[in-house]
Amino acid sequence: MTIAAAAHARDEIERTIRNVPDFPKPGIQFKDITPVLANARLFAAAVDLLVAGHPPGSVDAVAGIDARGFIFAAAGALRLNAGFVPIRKQGKLPYHTLEESYDLEYGSNTVAIHADAVQPGARVLLLDDLLATGGTAAAAVKLLRRIGAEVVEVGFLVELSFLRGRDRLAGVNVRSQVIY
Ligand code: AMP
Repeated sequence: MTIAAAAHARDEIERTIRNVPDFPKPGIQFKDITPVLANARLFAAAVDLLVAGHPPGSVDAVAGIDARGFIFAAAGALRLNAGFVPIRKQGKLPYHTLEESYDLEYGSNTVAIHADAVQPGARVLLLDDLLATGGTAAAAVKLLRRIGAEVVEVGFLVELSFLRGRDRLAGVNVRSQVIY
């Protein structure tokens, strides 16, 4: 994709993302990406943007975060001729797992990965739909590193920059396509 085409695609994606106020709780502005997914051209463009700069063969796996991250990571893995690795909510993966917990505004969350998801030294691109406070992505990076992966980049379709999620991802390459 040329630089101009990429900029145009980002604009179109931004205009297509639907803002849903007060979902799932009062005060949250939910960024609904389903209209982007439903548009074949924009879905393909979103995947192309997320994997841009990573030639096929340059990463061993694309990891996605439960659940919307799976959509982009699985499609990106096919584009890059790489494997797909799910990072799931606690209690979903059937084999030996490693877990990481992180704090939320109220309570905490736990994500998990299969202990043998990648070989030590594997180069992994991590994708999710949206970077908010960064807790989820930071926990996912920790899991990947604990199983010996090299996290080459963490990519997001959307970043809510006012929540400063990048601060929790210090020391990782972070790239977002649409920034609010
Ligand atoms: P965080 O750990 O705070 O960075 O939250 C990131 C995760 O929560 C992502 O997997 C998003 O899918 C989801 N998320 C958080 N805030 C929003 C929002 N405003 N709109 C849509 N998804 C969100």
